[in-house]
Amino acid sequence: MHPYQQPFLFESEATVKNISKEDDFLLVELDKTIFYPGGGGQPHDTGIIKNNDFEAEVIEVFKKDGKIIHKLKPEKGIVDVNDDVDLILNKERRIALIKMHTGEHILFKSLEKQIAELKLDKINLDENESSLFVKAENLSWDIVFKAEDLANKIIEENREIIIKKMTKEEAAEIKELRIKLERIKSGKIRIINIKDFDWSACTGTHAGNTGFTGNIFITKFNFNHGSYEIRFKTDVKKELFDFSKISRQSASILATDINKVPGLIEKLIKEKDEFKEKYRELIKNLPVEIKEEKINNITFKYNIFENYERKKLIDTINEKLTEKTVICLVNKSNGKAGIMLSCSPDLDYDIPKILRETLSEFNGKGGGRDRFAQGSAEENYSEDIIEEIKKRIK
Ligand SMILES: [Zn+2]
Repeated sequence: MHPYQQPFLFESEATVKNISKEDDFLLVELDKTIFYPGGGGQPHDTGIIKNNDFEAEVIEVFKKDGKIIHKLKPEKGIVDVNDDVDLILNKERRIALIKMHTGEHILFKSLEKQIAELKLDKINLDENESSLFVKAENLSWDIVFKAEDLANKIIEENREIIIKKMTKEEAAEIKELRIKLERIKSGKIRIINIKDFDWSACTGTHAGNTGFTGNIFITKFNFNHGSYEIRFKTDVKKELFDFSKISRQSASILATDINKVPGLIEKLIKEKDEFKEKYRELIKNLPVEIKEEKINNITFKYNIFENYERKKLIDTINEKLTEKTVICLVNKSNGKAGIMLSCSPDLDYDIPKILRETLSEFNGKGGGRDRFAQGSAEENYSEDIIEEIKKRIK
């Protein structure tokens, strides 16, 4: 095992083998290191490298051409090739990452037990909250909760985690092993075995038993770019209260029991959609009322609508565009205001320019050609937009 794979080795000594400069940073290679260089979804360690004459912060560790490079921000003194230095890991970060990484193995297997054809896409571990990206047909909170329950059971049982090295041939014999054998070139493979539960090839740092993870708490999941991202935390204590505050508060607002909150919200959303549909039906038959104002010798026709059919408003424009007329209709929908602006052929306003310039003042966008233009902005600017257009046609 590399020293950087020993999970609880937080301090050690080493000798500097190579140094180069990059801006204000030093790129240092050591004869051996306890700093994990990143890999398998686990980020690199951070910490301090120092001796009596020198001290620097380790801000990044990475592999380059088979060598492990420490990117250092020097704090004091200088360091030379062949100098001996002390290595000190940021212990809290390492421990948090061990919990996350161990938790990730447990969680993935727990999900796989619910969905046999589940595929691991990507892992993104972090000190505070991590992500597991998986490909699956259908993921629901029901499935996710079952996996979370199983993961926490495995943690509670404090199962042993065994690390073994084996050849590619030996690895091929273990049919439950999670590995991409075609990616393995040669040499020994490092296998992480959670007793009677999971086999996985991995280079990262893990605890010696599942109990170290504390617990697993899935904060959310969402679907994008063809895979599910499952966000989770480990060893959660206070956050459980923070999350449950939201459900207790929601239950009060909805005047219902906590366990009825999701069902009630679904019902409300359905009702809202039905109302919207009925409203749309109703306004189909409503006349489009237009206000009128005289600006110099021009008739300015305008009004603000909500959720009107676009076609109906365009028909209105065509119908009301009598001589020396400018017409501006605003249609509010889903927080946005759609604006249509037009003028009669006997006027020579640059309608697209007027709309574009007006909307740019309200963080909106618009365009068009000849005597018809349309655009959009936030709906709370609706009145102001009409006022601004009036000013511009004066
Ligand atoms: Zn691992």
